[in-house]
Formats: sequence, C-alpha cells, structure tokens
Amino acid sequence: MKIRLLEERGGSCERCGYNKKEILHVHHKDRNRKNNDSSNLELVCPNCHYEEHHLEKSWLKGND
Ligand SMILES: [Zn+2]
Ligand SMILES: [Zn+2]
Repeated sequence: MKIRLLEERGGSCERCGYNKKEILHVHHKDRNRKNNDSSNLELVCPNCHYEEHHLEKSWLKGND
C-alpha cells in the first residue's frame, strides 16, 4: 500500500515536500486504518504527521 502511494505521489511529503521516502508515513484522513481508498490517504513526513494528530490531541489514543 505504501509503495503504491509512493509511486503515485512522487515520494515526498504532500505538505512540506520532505523527500526521505523511507521514513514517510501514510496518514488516514478519516482516522480509519481500514479505509485504504486513495482519497483517504496522505503521504506525510513524521513531522507533519505528528503535527496533524497533536493538534487534535488524538495522537496518544493511537488513532491513525
Ligand atoms: Zn512534511
Ligand atoms: Zn495519521
């Protein structure tokens, strides 16, 4: 899943352009890990990913 996303989106963070693709995360916009529809997925770097979840205070609850 991640590999396909990397190919589709060019291997860089969709928010800041960070391009170490080995450590990019796949973020589920609706927080549902089972929804792997491409419109629900976002390729982000750990910084942007943390920021996204930290801002809504759901990070520690294990939501994705
Ligand atoms: Zn980023
Ligand atoms: Zn996420």
